[in-house]
Amino acid sequence: MNTIQSELWASRARSVSPGGVNSPVRAFTAVGGMPITFATAEGAWLVDVDGNRYLDLINSWGPMILGHRHPAVVSAIEQQLHRAMSFGAPSTLEVELAERMCSIVPGLEQVRLVSSGTEACMSAVRVARAATGRETIVKFAGCYHGHADAFLMSAGSGALANGVPSSPGVPVSVVATTIVIPFNDIESLQSLFDDRGHEIAAVIVEPIAGNMGCVPAEPGFLPTLRALCDMHGTVLIFDEVMTGFRLALGGAQQTTGIRADLVTFGKVLGGGMPLAAFGGAKNLMNMVSPAGPVYQAGTLSGHPVAVAAGIATLDLLANEPEVYSNLDETARAICHRLHARAEQHGIPITTNQYGSMLSVHFTQERVINLDSAMRADVGRFRIFFHGMLNQGVYLPPSAFESWFVSAAITGAELDLIDSAVDTVLYAMSAD
Ligand code: PMP
Repeated sequence: MNTIQSELWASRARSVSPGGVNSPVRAFTAVGGMPITFATAEGAWLVDVDGNRYLDLINSWGPMILGHRHPAVVSAIEQQLHRAMSFGAPSTLEVELAERMCSIVPGLEQVRLVSSGTEACMSAVRVARAATGRETIVKFAGCYHGHADAFLMSAGSGALANGVPSSPGVPVSVVATTIVIPFNDIESLQSLFDDRGHEIAAVIVEPIAGNMGCVPAEPGFLPTLRALCDMHGTVLIFDEVMTGFRLALGGAQQTTGIRADLVTFGKVLGGGMPLAAFGGAKNLMNMVSPAGPVYQAGTLSGHPVAVAAGIATLDLLANEPEVYSNLDETARAICHRLHARAEQHGIPITTNQYGSMLSVHFTQERVINLDSAMRADVGRFRIFFHGMLNQGVYLPPSAFESWFVSAAITGAELDLIDSAVDTVLYAMSAD
């Protein structure tokens, strides 16, 4: 595969941006090699600056659930561009989007639109702290909630421990109020609440985790979490930045039947544009400024072009009853074929799949939390990743990321993935 133009762009990028990228995981640090620079995208396909085509299994880390440049989304954006790009003042579409969200998502009475998942999560935590008058928050190892200081914790510690910043520049005093415990570990959760429940303002969780690969909640984990939060007056925040409008129209709250007090959104909500949100019941959301004292603001929040793309995306998802079952079937088919090929070539793998999220771990062990994800063979993932890239399939460039399936993937693309997997696993088995 000729990637000369990508190499040239990567070198230009490195001289003007840190590491040559605008978000670290794009740099291929976890898999080695040089990132591909892209030029265009359509449906299930990406095209790089050298003209190579790749079948996309990341979909911009989740947002492009309908595939790239869906005609109805493009048209909604174009129409909005003829009206206005930004007002920095109230406009009609943001009300229409908020109304749709509140009618779709269980328990949502009010939302505040923001521009990134990071903003949504840090704002939700601020509301929870204000509502409870407590400072301590709990997150789970391997869950990611954006790059705000309070979330940047050493995520590898399996034990119950106060945090150590995982990035220079994060004050120890800020993460001192963040407790990290293992995901899917009911005992740790129970004993933490027994000891310190009265101090905990909020628990923030990815109900179906997607930042250590795809790791669904085990039976009993979310119900226990809900019950403990109720018992101790703690605000339960579901971070549905990945899962919102992706697993089902009502997100993980709908598929798991567990209700959160506050929910954060991003990715699919903006249909490929920078748009995110947090929301919940009125009693909590009325604390947000200017209705209440909790300050939160954004110059481009509820950006009309992003909101137009979001409305078009949600409407397409709402009006296509089969879309979620089709996405689920596509993800299942990918896992099924991966297993068949892995077995054929004698390479042990574990796949996790939930709706249109999935991941592959080179291990025989069940992957249920960060520790078990980290015990998988990341060296093998690197080889697999580059093999698939050479075969024209673009996977997330890290073993600890979820793959995202789009509705643009059909039987023909499934066959292509299967044949790429066959070629790559065969070569790996011969090494
Ligand atoms: N929460 C989750 C679950 C995420 O996956 C991400 C981003 N991958 C974020 C929050 C942060 O979103 P953003 O990158 O838009 O700030």
